[in-house]
This record gives sequence, C-alpha cells and structure tokens, in this order.
Amino acid sequence: MRLVVLGSGTSVPHPKRASAAFWLETSAGAVLLDCSADAAHRMAQENLDWPNLDAIWISHLHLDHCGGLAPLLFGLKWSPQTQTRTKPLRILGCGGTRNLLSAIDQSNDYGLSDQKFPFELREIGASARSFEFLPGLRAQVFSTPHTRESLAIRLTDRDGASIVYSSDTGYSEEFASFARGADLLILECSFWKNKPTVKHLELSDAMSMAQLATPRALLLTHLYPEWDAIDIEGEAKTLWAGNTIAARDGLFLEIDKSGQ
Ligand SMILES: [Zn+2]
Ligand SMILES: [Zn+2]
Repeated sequence: MRLVVLGSGTSVPHPKRASAAFWLETSAGAVLLDCSADAAHRMAQENLDWPNLDAIWISHLHLDHCGGLAPLLFGLKWSPQTQTRTKPLRILGCGGTRNLLSAIDQSNDYGLSDQKFPFELREIGASARSFEFLPGLRAQVFSTPHTRESLAIRLTDRDGASIVYSSDTGYSEEFASFARGADLLILECSFWKNKPTVKHLELSDAMSMAQLATPRALLLTHLYPEWDAIDIEGEAKTLWAGNTIAARDGLFLEIDKSGQ
C-alpha cells in the first residue's frame, strides 16, 4: 500500500497544512480517507489519479473531515476526466453521511448521486465488526471517544498489510488494542501538552497509545498550529522508541508487511 498525506492539519486554516485527507493506494483500488474541503484540490496538486478513485471513507461529521465530499461529487459529475468513467465509486461513511449529502443536494438540486458511473453510499455503524471495503480489502471499525458517530478504521489488504486511521479521538486504551500490530498507525496528535479537551490527544496520550499498539510505523497527524515551532519527532522519541513520523502535506509512505 502507498499513502499520500493530503492534509495533515485541522479545521484551523494553515498555510502549509490542509484539513484532513489521505490518499491510500491498495491492491484493491484507490481510497480517500476523509474528505476535507481541501481534498479535491490536493489530489490534483499531487498528480494523483482522482478521476479513478474507487472509494471514500468518512470518519465523522466534523467539517474538517467531510466538508469536501459534496464538492468532490459535484466535481466528479462535471469534470471532463470522468465523463467516460464506468467503474463504481463507493462511499463508506459514519452514520449521518447520507443525511449530510442529501441536505446539501436538496438545497440546490445538485443531483450529486446522479453520476455517469455507478455510485454507492453505505453508512457504517460502530457495530459493523468486519466488512469488505473493496473486493480484496477488509475493514474493521472502532467507535472513538470524539463524537457520537466518529469511527476509526483498520484496513487489511490481500497480502496482510494493515493500516489503522484513528481520525479524531480522545485517549483510549481500547483503541490501542484495536490498532495493535498495524503496519502503519495514522494517529491524531492534535496538541503538544495541556490539551483543552478530552476529545483529542496530546503527545503523551498518543505515545502511550503507540506503546500499547506497537505499530511498525506511527504517523502523527491532525496537527494544530501550536506544533509549528516544535520538533514533533524529537519530542515523540523521548516517549516511545518506535518509528514515529510527523505528517506533512505531500509526504508519501510505502506500507507493506515488513514495514514502511
Ligand atoms: Zn478534525
Ligand atoms: Zn473531529
């Protein structure tokens, strides 16, 4: 699998960090993990094959994670690059994704689900233990302590390589168990210290969870601007000796069973 960081930031506008979105290439197809308002532009900017995107994951309904979904569907509907597309697009999202899209759709009769290609939207509840994300790509989800609908996801390809994407979460040892042994753990690390809310992580939380999960590689993301002046990887190393990488927009990682 190959991961491209499209957005390592948060809801706060930032000159170098777009809001949350990740491009994941798998043997089963290309997947967009979260779809912030910046996602469509960032895919184009990284020269990714966005017209052939196979699936989109929406972790929760905060707009820095889903605010680009309707605009992307509007773009796919009208882009010259997608007029001859025939393969399906699958959207797998937390509870409320359908409602969000239909509210926008009805506000101006956009016809977002009326695409040239087959289009499927499926809501995933926390009780969905294991399901097929794409043929050949298994998924499991975990209900994170962030919002009522927020979900982390674990994706495993045919070769057994696995990535876990926390999206936004508070501290949770159960999540660490869910993420155990992943080849890549994409973990939010919103704040350095003295976090203002229990619904996000600060560095010590993230590294305690990494210690429990022992991923082959850890990617810290969802970085608020307070991180700008701080050596994230250096600080992380003082708390966990494993392979920690600070996300930045444009970073790409190869993920396989023997590590990235
Ligand atoms: Zn967020
Ligand atoms: Zn959030």
